[in-house]
Amino acid sequence: MQRKKEKDQADSASQTAPAVKGSLTEVRKTCGKKRCRKCASGERHPAWLFMYRLDGKAHSMHVPKSMVPLLEKALEKGRDMERRMVENGIALIRDRKAK
Ligand SMILES: [Zn+2]
Repeated sequence: MQRKKEKDQADSASQTAPAVKGSLTEVRKTCGKKRCRKCASGERHPAWLFMYRLDGKAHSMHVPKSMVPLLEKALEKGRDMERRMVENGIALIRDRKAK
């Protein structure tokens, strides 16, 4: 059942996700609590970061786990769009040369 729910979420995400540029990275964070076993063992806490560059500066934003499938789809759309933009450039130059 859990699998199906995840798939449904991913399917609806592909319909609503905008094209996004950047990257998604999983990190392990310490929570700062003195007696946390997960931190003491070195396991720490998983967290997701959206990494991006804006005006030449690197930034990152925390991503709630529930939003990860949506963001993955959005990044995929962004990569597709970038590829099409490169292809547009190639086609533009080829068209002009042919005339
Ligand atoms: Zn902790």
